[in-house]
Amino acid sequence: MAIEDRILKGSVRRALDLIGDRWTLLILLSAFCGVQRFDEWKSLHGISPSILSNRLKRLIERGILEQQPVEAGSRRQRYTLTEMGSDLFNWALAVWSWERNWVYRDTHHPVRLLHKTCGHSTSANFVCGHCDGRIGYYSIRIERGPGYDAISVDTAPGSRRTKTPDGPGANDTRHIGRFVDIIGDRWSFLIISAAYFGVTRFDDFQSQLHIATNILSDRLRRLADDGMLARNRYREKPARYEYILTEKNIAFYQVPLMLALWGDQWLPSDVGPAFLRFHDHCGKNVTVKPLCNHCGDILERADIDFESVDEF
Ligand SMILES: [Zn+2]
Ligand SMILES: [Zn+2]
Repeated sequence: MAIEDRILKGSVRRALDLIGDRWTLLILLSAFCGVQRFDEWKSLHGISPSILSNRLKRLIERGILEQQPVEAGSRRQRYTLTEMGSDLFNWALAVWSWERNWVYRDTHHPVRLLHKTCGHSTSANFVCGHCDGRIGYYSIRIERGPGYDAISVDTAPGSRRTKTPDGPGANDTRHIGRFVDIIGDRWSFLIISAAYFGVTRFDDFQSQLHIATNILSDRLRRLADDGMLARNRYREKPARYEYILTEKNIAFYQVPLMLALWGDQWLPSDVGPAFLRFHDHCGKNVTVKPLCNHCGDILERADIDFESVDEF
């Protein structure tokens, strides 16, 4: 199975088509922090009003947010997550946990999660819903599912995610999350996905992803600067490099995985998912439970408070 097919047919790709631009990702994460009103999003992100209203409209059309008056009879609206949107909670937890453990290790995290049950600041450990074994890059086996042939592959990548900044104020939000630069950028996402499938060399990335050499060089350099790929010279003359997954990137795997599981659930083809995911340890279909890294209880959305959200 070609790597490009595997990436483009996967649920992650379809989930990203739905929610994967930079601003949409940020809007969704702040919705989980309790942001509900237009003005709150505007002041939080420095996002332009036109982009914000466009993205909110799109999220409503796609069934992820719903709109209602702030109070009966009021013209002011608030936007809340639907059941489909709320089900992205594991993905949001994966983002926050990865950023806390790998991006803001020595500095203040813009969002701090407080587990009310135990009273401690928390990040999620994801375990298998069947056997409680750890879920991660090394423990998932992927097979073709019944929907594999039913999903057509768009092999002509659009330009929607090739630009990282997306409107005025984009640079102001750099501190918010490194992850949006990675998963909100189409090419970086495809390169990381190919790396998860074992691609390491420049020429292989290029032939697998049909990516222009200047874009590929740029994204590989950025990912290496971010510590997501380690650059390693494997030949002296002429100099040739390979790009190896770092620990930081292997930990990041949970973010696209949670998105893929959400896509399996909410965006299946008529004949089922394109891929089936199995937990190596127990052999069962992957389902996940997020556990508090402090007390080990399951992290429920209602049991989490957000601190420092004003800096988000
Ligand atoms: Zn298991
Ligand atoms: Zn706890």
